[in-house]
Amino acid sequence: MIPFSGNPLDRASEKRTDTAWVEAKRRDPSSLIMPMWRLQPFLIGAPKNNEPAELGLFRPGLFESMAAADAPWVFLGLEGERALFAHDISAAGDPENSGPLAGFGRFAEARGAAMALPMKDAAIMGQAKAMIDWHQRHGFCARCGAPTAIADAGYRRVCGACNAEHFPRTDPVVIMLATYGDKCLVGRGKQFPQGMYSALAGFIEPGETIEEAVRRELKEESGIETGTVTYKFNQPWPFPSSLMIGCFAEALTTDLRVDPNELAEARWLDKATARAIITGGRVEGIWLPPAIAIAHHLIKAWALD
Ligand SMILES: [Zn+2]
Repeated sequence: MIPFSGNPLDRASEKRTDTAWVEAKRRDPSSLIMPMWRLQPFLIGAPKNNEPAELGLFRPGLFESMAAADAPWVFLGLEGERALFAHDISAAGDPENSGPLAGFGRFAEARGAAMALPMKDAAIMGQAKAMIDWHQRHGFCARCGAPTAIADAGYRRVCGACNAEHFPRTDPVVIMLATYGDKCLVGRGKQFPQGMYSALAGFIEPGETIEEAVRRELKEESGIETGTVTYKFNQPWPFPSSLMIGCFAEALTTDLRVDPNELAEARWLDKATARAIITGGRVEGIWLPPAIAIAHHLIKAWALD
């Protein structure tokens, strides 16, 4: 299973426009509300990094008084009859040390938290983070600049001046492992630590298919030509709002001409080495992405095939 997938909630989208139902659920003592503070989830018991964590979800009325009056909130979905919400309390100064959440745990950076949470909770947290992040960036109308307000339980914003509607966005990204015989192409982004390599990736542009984006990105970043592109699997990636579309691409050429604006370097990695690293072995000078990243699963699927 790929992290951020497998969200167990029934999104119950038909309920979002039922304002009375939504408001009743926001106050229902059986509901649970997830605090998000500056895009960080709350972890119960303040686990240290790399320790298993439990996602902070609380009864209505416990902590929402810390939120600004117009703070984003979102109906995440139903777990049986129980409704789950997320509520942004970024206005609070230090909510893990003062106020109603003090002593229960700590807020944690979302990526690290996702690695520590059970898979289903990481997926719920990813949904909440992507949605709250979208609200924070869309307080004003992209058409006329006037303030927008939340509608549909958090799944729409409406401009108060021109009535334009704005919807949460998901940006498609292709991430692809180019292969040539028993070698695969990995690159080191300029911001990566020394020795860290991953599959190449890039945003799909308007007017492009997935296959066309894969071939263009590989050509631009590494200089290789590719033929057949095969879709493998995908991953919601809430940093801030991507859908990572994982593919394999058959390389037709192997000479590398790296775009220095995109990559520090690129190299062909043989299958035995890739298999050794991706299954937990150490190979001097080369690191591959951890299991939170779809690149890890793409390399693994190819290396173990
Ligand atoms: Zn407007």
